[in-house]
Amino acid sequence: MHFALSEEEILIRDTARRMAADRLAPHAEALDRGEGRAHLLDNLRELARNGFATLNAPAEFGGAEAGAVSFALSIEEFGYACASTAVTLSVTNMVAEVINAVASPEQKAATLPKLADGTWAAGAFCLTESGAGSDPSSMRLRARKDGADYVLDGEKIYITSAEYAGIFVVWAVTDPDAPRGKGISLFLVPADTKGLTIGKAERKLGQHGSATNSVIFEACRVPASALMGRENDGFRVAVGELAGGRIGIAALSLGIARAAMDKATSYVKERRQFGRPIADFQGLQWMIADRATDLEAARLLILSAAATKDRGEPYARQASMAKLFASEAAHRATDTAVQLFGGAGYIADAGVERHLRDARITRIYEGTSEIQRLVIARETLR
Ligand SMILES: Cc1cc2nc3c(=O)[nH]c(=O)nc-3n(C[C@H](O)[C@H](O)[C@H](O)COP(=O)(O)OP(=O)(O)OC[C@H]3O[C@@H](n4cnc5c(N)ncnc54)[C@H](O)[C@@H]3O)c2cc1C
Repeated sequence: MHFALSEEEILIRDTARRMAADRLAPHAEALDRGEGRAHLLDNLRELARNGFATLNAPAEFGGAEAGAVSFALSIEEFGYACASTAVTLSVTNMVAEVINAVASPEQKAATLPKLADGTWAAGAFCLTESGAGSDPSSMRLRARKDGADYVLDGEKIYITSAEYAGIFVVWAVTDPDAPRGKGISLFLVPADTKGLTIGKAERKLGQHGSATNSVIFEACRVPASALMGRENDGFRVAVGELAGGRIGIAALSLGIARAAMDKATSYVKERRQFGRPIADFQGLQWMIADRATDLEAARLLILSAAATKDRGEPYARQASMAKLFASEAAHRATDTAVQLFGGAGYIADAGVERHLRDARITRIYEGTSEIQRLVIARETLR
């Protein structure tokens, strides 16, 4: 086995790194303060035009066809600079992958190019409801057949990018009498559809630049052509596509962790106490060694999951391992970084407490750490 990246993967990673430093990093702190939405949207559109919103979509619909390894490398670089922009891109890529996996050629032609050229700043992935989080099969949002249309009623919560997404992929119950998970279908709902409204923006611990809202469907009528894939087959699609998204969240976690530890390792070489740099103290060196090992292990798990996906092999187990390990490693790394900075780490000016807050959600969304363990155990015991 060899671990070398292809020339194309290196080029994509380096482009992402350059764009992250030039365009994302300068706005990350303002976004964290809840300012600079216009810069976020500008950057999302520019990143889309450079292929980063539809990395795995086919070229005939404007996609980059770059593969999962390139996706992981890119999200890591964006996460290093700005977690809020990175998660938005990760979700938009996931939306594009769902569409690419199950939509008809007409549905793909109507949507993917608009994600690919930045006409739409983002796509929204609408699965979670107040009573259906870790267990999305218990969702209630209803899609009733009415003549040639479907009418959607219900509410999704915690939807990333809902405020500025152009397209919503929405899971809804089409057969309430079917066994668990067997009566759910998947719909494509444009943002301007009558009956779709965006609820209030949630106030959060971190990732303040990325919008999180409820999405309310009230007598929201969509044509039969909005159904993606086969009726009542949507839950299987959700489960499959979440695995791909987990590679993105793992890469985002690694980016956040690396940003925090880079700042901390520079700081310990400069900060002096007891007449010498605090990097001389072995107690701190061991903390740095443990975190460096964590980050390396996270990177290998992410690349293994992404390369397995690129080979077309089953990768759900590796994706869950990567997400579980990288998000927990990011928690350890960002907490260690704050500790290495001492009091300054707790103060916003040093720029590390933001990473600690931004990292926390990676252990929760797209399946909590506990749910990742369920997936890993199920696949291991199979
Ligand atoms: C900022 C943010 C952005 C989000 N973006 C999106 C989005 O774009 N689209 C979307 O659809 N959703 C999104 N979500 C929702 C997110 O995926 C869910 O919050 C997450 O899956 C957990 O569901 P829950 O909040 O209902 O927690 P619950 O399912 O209520 O879990 C509560 C606790 O119970 C544990 N638990 C539950 N079941 C089990 C079990 N069987 N075994 C062991 N432990 C268990 C969980 O691990 C957790 O610790 C977002 C959430 C947030 C906070």
